[in-house]
Parts: sequence; structure tokens; C-alpha cells
Amino acid sequence: QCVAVCPTGALVERSYIDQVWDVIEDPKKHVVVQTAPAVRVAIGEEFGYEPGTISTGKLVSALRVLGFDKIFDTNFAADLTIMEEAYEFKERLENGGYLPMLTSCCPGWVKFLEHQFPELLEMPSSAKSPQQMFGAVAKTYYAQKAGIDPKDIVVVSIMPCLAKKYEANREELRGSGYQDVDYVITTRELADMIRESGINFQNLPEEEYDNPLGESTGAADIFGRTGGVAEAALRTAYEWITGEELGNVEFEAVRGYEGVRIAEVGIKGTKVKVGVAHGLGNVRKLLEDIREGKTEVHMIEVMACPGGCVGGGGQPYHHGDFNIIKRRTEAINKIDRNKPIRKSHENPSIKKIYEEFLGKPNSEKAHHLLHTEYFEREWL
Ligand code: SF4
Repeated sequence: QCVAVCPTGALVERSYIDQVWDVIEDPKKHVVVQTAPAVRVAIGEEFGYEPGTISTGKLVSALRVLGFDKIFDTNFAADLTIMEEAYEFKERLENGGYLPMLTSCCPGWVKFLEHQFPELLEMPSSAKSPQQMFGAVAKTYYAQKAGIDPKDIVVVSIMPCLAKKYEANREELRGSGYQDVDYVITTRELADMIRESGINFQNLPEEEYDNPLGESTGAADIFGRTGGVAEAALRTAYEWITGEELGNVEFEAVRGYEGVRIAEVGIKGTKVKVGVAHGLGNVRKLLEDIREGKTEVHMIEVMACPGGCVGGGGQPYHHGDFNIIKRRTEAINKIDRNKPIRKSHENPSIKKIYEEFLGKPNSEKAHHLLHTEYFEREWL
């Protein structure tokens, strides 16, 4: 499974559970943890719940019992990613920049592109993934606000993904002056830690994330399923480009489960074409069509795993049962529908980080901390 869907992560797959226990027990370390959107709709399966059970509150509670100092949310950084990515998309669209712009949240496919399509390296957005943006702001913005020396902060990620372990170790992802993300634990590994500690998951209370890196909108939740990053980017880009309020935030055209989908969205007289692909075989086909000029699109979202991160290689095993992936996807959409705010640029904590620290999207500071580069790579 992991090798099939995560060819990059498989090269470096290893468990950091021991290191995480060590830093939790080290009184000199301030250990913050972030949880990816797809983890909350799958971890319950490890403890007897049906696929698609939303376990956000119990997940937060479990992490607190395990001893993490702050329980933050990758979703906050997903909203931040949209700020930077939607800004970049608007710039490219309005100023004749390189199109299509590819979303860059999935390290599995980014590495695939670097190996297999090096001539397309200008396409991806330079915005880092939410995991890496989180690490960069945790060791700068949060460190300043909390008055903690960033050398004492340890960032742990709970991810549905094996490739995220590889991503955290990429040399260029040290914008904070330190390794931005220290350890990545998968959903299954977290379940092992919870069992190892003797915690009764089902009996845990529902708790809330800490702030300032814990608040998020529905746009961040949908990062966990195929089509979600494109939809979240459109929610913000639409309002920024047109200057008008977007009524219906659900872009049905980019939703669904076909391996490759091409959708057309009208934005101020321009028909914006969006391509969405999930599963590396489908991704290859879409990229080959674009390289050969057979498909013209403005934005592309690519996820290496079937269904996106809900079907990630670090999630509870789904054994190829796509019904499980669908139920997790429906849970993600339900969380989004129930959020009072569903557009990233309306997240109050996001507004605050720009006011207090980053200035505006793609400012010098934002560029330094939140953007990256891609390289042609050889297989090891
Ligand atoms: Fe990781 Fe999600 Fe990409 Fe799969 S789709 S490789 S889980 S980021």
C-alpha cells in the first residue's frame, strides 16, 4: 500500500515515536503538535468507530493526555497556504505569469514532478505545504508571542502521509533558521502511541485546539480530500479577483472521484479552467496531456493518493475499499459545512498573523518563511 501510493515516502519511511516520547519527557523542550485535516476523520477507525466518524475533539484530548504542550492545527496553516497560493494565482493570471499553476501541498507528487517532469518545475506554486508553513510560523511568530526560544520548540506533525516524513527533512525547508518540522508521526502511529499509553479513546472528552495556531475555516478542512485545495483557493481567489462576495462557496465542478476532472469556473468574464487529479497514474496522464498541449488549464490540483489525503498511506488501512475513502470524504465535507467561516481569508487568526507579523501575502517576510523552490532530482 505505502509503496504503491507513496513511492517517495517509502524510501525514508521510519518511525519517530521514540524521539517524540523523548522530547515530551524533556522538561527543557516545548513540544507543539499539529494535526492534518484528514487525520480527524480516520483515527476513530483505530478505536472501533465507523469510517467517517468525526473525532476532532477526542483527537485533541488524546494529544493533551499524551503530554504535548500545545495542540495546534495544520488547518490554520492550510488557511495560510491559501492566502499565499491564491495571491500567487491572481498575480500569475492578471500579469501574464506562468500558467497553469500547480498546487504544491502534496510532497508525494512534488517529488514525482521533480523526478519525472523536471521541465515543468516552473508550474508549481512556490507556496510551501501547510505542514511546512506551520513549522515555519511555530518557530518564529508563535515563539515570539509565547516568549520561547525557538531552539527549544519541537514541532511534531500528525499526518495521514508517509511522504510528509521525507518533506520535513528537505534541506531547503528551514526558513525559521531551524528544521521547521522536527518529527512526523502518521495517523496509525499516533493510534499506537495512544494504545501504548493505555488511553481509552472512546471515553475521552471533546476538547478544543489551542491558539493562536488552532483556528481554521471550512476551506482548510477540505484540503483533506481530492479537489479540496483547488476549491479552497477558488473561494479566496474569486473574491480577490472580482471584488465581489462569493455566494455559494461549494464548487461542485471540482468535486467527485474521477481520476482526472476538468472544471470551468467563471471569474469576472474569464473562464478559469481547473484540472484535478488524484492517484499518481492519473497525475502522469494529466501532466503528459499538458506537456503535449492537449489540455489547457489555469490551475491544477494534484494529490498522489486515491481520494487525496483521506486515502493517504499513513491512515488506518482501507485495503482498497473506496467506500471507506468516500465516507471519510463525506465527513470532511460535513465539517466544512458546519464551520461558521468557510473562506481562508476570513479566518480572524490569519488576519491577525498578517497584521502582527507577515504584512501581506508574498511580502519579503512571507516569501522567506512560506515559500520554497523545486529541483530536478535523481532517483537514489
Ligand atoms: Fe501525502 Fe496527502 Fe499527498 Fe497522499 S495525497 S502523499 S497523504 S500529501
